[in-house]
Amino acid sequence: MPATRDPARTMSAMSASVFPVLEAHLPSVSKPIQYVGGELNSTVKEWDCAPEGPTVRWTLMYPDAYEVGLPNQGVQILYEVLNERPWILAERTYAVWPDLEAVMREHDIPQFTVDAHRPIGDFDLLGLSFSTELGYTNMLNALDLGRIPLHAVDRTEDHPVVIAGGHAAFNPEPIADFIDAAVLGDGEEIVLAISEVVRDWKRQGRPAGEMASPRLELLRRLAVTGNVYVPRFYDVAYGEDGAIASVVPNRADVPERVRKHTLMDLDAWPYPAKPLVPLAETVHERFSVEIFRGCTRGCRFCQAGMITRPVRERSIQTVGAMVENGIRKTGFEEVGLLSLSSADHTEIGEIATDLADRYEDQNVSLSLPSTRVDAFNITLANEFSRNGRRSGLTFAPEGGSERMRKVINKMVTEDDLIRTVAAAYSHGWRQVKLYFMCGLPTETDEDVLQIAELAKRVIATGREVSGRNDIRCTVSIGGFVPKPHTPFQWAAQLDHETTDERLRKLREEVRADKRYGRAIGFRYHDGKPGAVEGLLSRGDRRVGRVIEAVWRDGGRFDGWSEHFSYDRWMAAADEALAGTGVDVAWYTTRERGYDEVLPWDHLDSGLDKDWLWADWEDALAVADGSADVEVEDCRWTPCYDCGVCPEMGTEIQIGPTGQRLLPLSVV
Ligand code: SF4
Repeated sequence: MPATRDPARTMSAMSASVFPVLEAHLPSVSKPIQYVGGELNSTVKEWDCAPEGPTVRWTLMYPDAYEVGLPNQGVQILYEVLNERPWILAERTYAVWPDLEAVMREHDIPQFTVDAHRPIGDFDLLGLSFSTELGYTNMLNALDLGRIPLHAVDRTEDHPVVIAGGHAAFNPEPIADFIDAAVLGDGEEIVLAISEVVRDWKRQGRPAGEMASPRLELLRRLAVTGNVYVPRFYDVAYGEDGAIASVVPNRADVPERVRKHTLMDLDAWPYPAKPLVPLAETVHERFSVEIFRGCTRGCRFCQAGMITRPVRERSIQTVGAMVENGIRKTGFEEVGLLSLSSADHTEIGEIATDLADRYEDQNVSLSLPSTRVDAFNITLANEFSRNGRRSGLTFAPEGGSERMRKVINKMVTEDDLIRTVAAAYSHGWRQVKLYFMCGLPTETDEDVLQIAELAKRVIATGREVSGRNDIRCTVSIGGFVPKPHTPFQWAAQLDHETTDERLRKLREEVRADKRYGRAIGFRYHDGKPGAVEGLLSRGDRRVGRVIEAVWRDGGRFDGWSEHFSYDRWMAAADEALAGTGVDVAWYTTRERGYDEVLPWDHLDSGLDKDWLWADWEDALAVADGSADVEVEDCRWTPCYDCGVCPEMGTEIQIGPTGQRLLPLSVV
């Protein structure tokens, strides 16, 4: 018989701080300050903080070290949104470095939150934000340290519900065995909705209902909303060829496809309003304001652009208010205006000028991740550097040759780029960074070698317009990894040996040039991490065994080159995938066909699969010269029916508002 539990006996009736035990060991580990908590603007609540009824308790984890995790906007926003509710308590945890892990294992200290140093196993929910798949082993380590069974099926109602979010959660299948649920898209509203479901369930005495256990009943309640994916309620069958034959719900009350969330009217959600100020050094020492969410430029490789549609801008007034509030509450001297392509904000010129005016003669500098290649960026960069340092400019042509850029729908001509860098160098910049990818679909050696020609032309132009010889250009190259929910989700990934060889040729080509070679910097790490990322990003549930084997073999911090071991991943994959008929190459370097069931097909990003396929075919047609199709940005041209807005009930929200920012105080 399904049981109804005594509401007074909750798994989290008490939670004692581990700090008294932890503190004695902190002097023996590196950067102990990262584990201490108490950052400016952080929150510590009573364990039973709800004025009436049950408290809902979250641990939020960014599965990387504090220095990477603390600045993460997603976690900071959710931490604040949750803690604003008097009946919710949210604390943070980050991956602990191996030296502290050893101490924790030796002295039986569980994974803890940095806020009140409570064991993460005491909370109702553990929400993980995955920007990259390379954080999966850190999740397993935190679960294990937190004494939470690794496999969701082994958990009881005494364990937290483990929920994955972030961009990687758009294909959570490789971690399906380890998570209880996943949510797709913007987190602000869904974390509150989940909290309400948990509160109701706790308030009712944590019933099991018709399910076999109270925990299953809670998961069922989350799943039937249609907005929370609970992998155990979906069965995956495989065909003889190794591909997925079907993914079907094993309950009638859960939807066939789980939808992503889209937050509309960003002005109503001006978070973070109390940005965290880190105690230890972090990767970004600035306050960031997200000026819009989403991107519709249609770059075919870009998962972030595809899964965050449509574009929703914050107004110039909200941006101004957030900047002012953030500076006042943090003391940061640098403000970053974030988005996927910040120069595309309809009022970016006004924002740049008005903020530069506002903070003229104050110790506040503004920065913009410049990615669009046009001269307008130089005007913006001039405004932004008015009050601060003149740092390097970064442009991302992504593809080395004109042909390649057309294939990926990155509509930047070589002349555009040269015009832009000429403007930069003539306005006093000495250093320009260019970002490219290697391994794009249909790419050849020749496409990549064009990067050298482009870089040489950049230096030649810089010397000519500035009349100086100390002009520099850094070429930075990343290996392309095909991602789910993009037109390239069907593409074959280039194997890492060919990628490395192609880039070796490029490096030689640059170095061999006596005239310009010394002025061109070259940044590239090897292609092996990309192969593992490829396995994880397009993997299915069978890949979970590989992740677990890697973790059991000591795999941690896979996003860090000094910790990453390609050999460990390959050995684990050989063993864990033996007998399945599939291997790493099958997941990575194999092109998929139209009819193949993709592991994430039951997860609805709003994009119409036929539209994605047509766009993939267009890319191939552009590549072989049989067509010349360009996808324009639907912000400025009519809707081209990618499917997102009608499917999600959303719309593009952009200005211009026509408003301006006034000075903060009249002198
Ligand atoms: S549905 Fe139309 S307007 Fe909406 S994001 Fe897609 S192309 Fe743009």
